[in-house]
Amino acid sequence: MQKFDPLPDFAEITPSAAIAAQTHGWRAKCLQRLIRLDMPVPRSVSLPASLVRCIAAGQAMDYASVLHLFGERPLISVRPSPANPDWGGPSTVLNIGMNGARHAELVERHGQAAADALYLRFVQGYAVHVARLDPDMFEGREPSGEALRAALRAYADEMEEPFPEDPARQLSEVLRSMARAWEGTSARLLRQAKGAPEDAALGLVVQAMAQGIGQGISGSGVIQFVDPVTGEPQITGRWLRQAQDRAALRDTDEALYLTRDARGPSLQDIAPGIFETLSRQGTACRAKLREEMQIEFTIEDGRLAVIDAVRVQRSSRAGLRIAVDLADAGIITRNEALLRVEPRALSELLHPQVDPRGPRDVFARGIAASPGGATGRIVFSSAGAQASAARGEPCILVKRETAPEDIRGMHSAAGVLTERGGITSHAAVIGRGLGLPCIVGASDLRIDPRERRITGADGRVFREGDIVTVDGTTGEVLAGAADMLPPALDGHFRKLLSWADAVRDIGIRANADTPADAQTARDFEAQGIGLCRTEHMFFEDARLVAMREMIFADSPKDRAAALARILPMQRNDFVQLFEIMEGLPVCIRLFDPPLHEFLPHSRDGMRELAEALDRPLSEVTRRAEALTEFNPMLGMRGVRLGIVLPEIYDMQAQAIFEATIEIAARGGSVVPEIMIPLVSAKREVELVKTRVDAVAAKVRTAKSRDFDYKLGVMVETPRAALRAGDIAQHAAFLSFGTNDLTQMTYGLSRDDAGRFMNTYVQQGVFPEDPFHILDVDGVGELLLIGAERGRRTREKLVLSICGEHGGNPESISFCRKAGFDYVSCSPYRVPLARLAAAHLAL
Ligand code: PEP
Ligand code: MG
Repeated sequence: MQKFDPLPDFAEITPSAAIAAQTHGWRAKCLQRLIRLDMPVPRSVSLPASLVRCIAAGQAMDYASVLHLFGERPLISVRPSPANPDWGGPSTVLNIGMNGARHAELVERHGQAAADALYLRFVQGYAVHVARLDPDMFEGREPSGEALRAALRAYADEMEEPFPEDPARQLSEVLRSMARAWEGTSARLLRQAKGAPEDAALGLVVQAMAQGIGQGISGSGVIQFVDPVTGEPQITGRWLRQAQDRAALRDTDEALYLTRDARGPSLQDIAPGIFETLSRQGTACRAKLREEMQIEFTIEDGRLAVIDAVRVQRSSRAGLRIAVDLADAGIITRNEALLRVEPRALSELLHPQVDPRGPRDVFARGIAASPGGATGRIVFSSAGAQASAARGEPCILVKRETAPEDIRGMHSAAGVLTERGGITSHAAVIGRGLGLPCIVGASDLRIDPRERRITGADGRVFREGDIVTVDGTTGEVLAGAADMLPPALDGHFRKLLSWADAVRDIGIRANADTPADAQTARDFEAQGIGLCRTEHMFFEDARLVAMREMIFADSPKDRAAALARILPMQRNDFVQLFEIMEGLPVCIRLFDPPLHEFLPHSRDGMRELAEALDRPLSEVTRRAEALTEFNPMLGMRGVRLGIVLPEIYDMQAQAIFEATIEIAARGGSVVPEIMIPLVSAKREVELVKTRVDAVAAKVRTAKSRDFDYKLGVMVETPRAALRAGDIAQHAAFLSFGTNDLTQMTYGLSRDDAGRFMNTYVQQGVFPEDPFHILDVDGVGELLLIGAERGRRTREKLVLSICGEHGGNPESISFCRKAGFDYVSCSPYRVPLARLAAAHLAL
């Protein structure tokens, strides 16, 4: 007799059996819990992963003894039981044990048609999933005696042997095929993509079939107790008469609803007792399994059997609501609720979303740069967007790329789509700041602004005025209007985030430039403004004119006059920000961009400007050319401008201090933080500080009022990070601007890198786009050096990050470990950051 190594034991699933998810898989463990709840689970046997591995390796087990547990001539099913349900697994096989004799018995009991259908389904499943025969030969046949005979013949022809009649042989083949399927390369890759470890284990569960066919009430279905899209408590599911397994979910035409309603007879009408039992069991299941479960059940001649239970599939919004409701019911702790919600999922909830259940007619794809969905008519210019908004018509602004002068157009648009640009391109940054759904770098799209049309990846042409939908969450551009879900900023959302605030240990501020941004920051409960980019306040018409006059001023006197016109507007900006933030810290960055950004780029624009300034066109053009730089991002911007034309910073400091005094006069209090951009040398800070202090002294004297303020430095150049020790002598705080710091560390243009970033990431040159995910090895090291050197000079130096990375969970983790005081991110990322910070503290 052949000798086998002793095989690991299989175990009948009973309340006291030693079944663990790690060894037997989640399904076996879940069934044990259902059994412990006294649910009518058919007899089930669990094959642990160690045994399944032996089966895959070709070791034979004693199949007859497994069958023996199920009585005389049983019909059984085999279901996969991986350690984690998300890892998938081979398909379930039902009705093992079916053969000629069993078929004849079923004909007696349930009639020819039902018996034929059952046998046919088994032959089909076995042929395709176990014998691996061509599905085309077996699937798609309507059940009938003829179809059954044809399937048996096809099997015999292909396999050159009759369909196996011996239940033990059937079981052994099923188990071996399922065990081997798990070891296959594609299954391995698939589950590893879902985070499964190399040695992920599969258990198998053998279960007695509950038939679902019979003379009395018979059938099968699923029931769950929450809505999968909203998470609201609601009984949903389907039930199909004379059926097995999850057939009710496939044969939707004949399937019945569970609860009483106008759509026709329901399970509640037909079998109220069973419905009641199921509802009760659902409640018990939720409490014991600490999760919203979908229960799979079968009714055989009026007798209920619970076959299985799986975690309810859910949208992000449902996931959040379920977690909060479970914590509120005392079933899980608040901390556990926090950990059950993935921070990135929150971004989806802040905006209208394209309904995942609706149809999607995708014609182009790009980088999902700012989440949310928006439908509107195509416009190709900011002027078009403003006109559309004036008519009350939502529009999608479509451009090759956006520039600062598109701000107003973006404000007017419902969504933005650009052909070029990466995750920190202008459109992406502004889109996130405004909470505007945005797709950038849709390079498979051809935009022809002159002809006012776009051509999709599939060749379809859309013209100005055509309706499209931008899905900024997935990066897909859809033809026509799509079904939308509203934002989900409800009580559950706020409650979860208040729990997050109670546990997190790093501050979260927002980058906010305008009163509207500041209001959003407050609504999302940011702890202050970490970066106000003041140049964004200059793109309004009145200021733009004054700014241009300032740029064209011939003498300091004329320049001062132009700035004096901007001063009250800036003061009013700051008063509004301070008021909205109600005493929370507000960090104002002094003017940063190159001056030529304020000049028109087209000939028509130049002519208009010449008229407005009453200067010759030639002079305007000459001045604009003189300001043009070969590499403006490395040119006269940031503090360099502040050193060369100090009057601009003087005006801003004066506006900040006067606003501070005005707030105090209204009974409020604020200690403004003034931040100097693009510093690379200590002397720059000394020069600006001297002037800002002088302005403060002048304002104090002029207004006879005292106030406090803090002066800090934005670390955006590698040199500033390296010299942070020096710089900190004059700075109360350092905020790392990782957009420019990444640009300068890599020598990579933040506006142009999108063109080759995909190739770089695909070829593994960069693990990720470093403008998107902080490069901890390079840029991160500069952050650590800057933080360490800065704090060595000034122990209480406040440290933060305010680049686009500030809202990413990975960067928050990095900053927290480095002892930073806070991160600052777009207002719409604040909720995500609050939750991510809480996860890190738990
Ligand atoms: C940065 O460089 O990281 C930053 C926040 O400033 P900006 O994006 O305005 O250059
Ligand atoms: Mg910068």
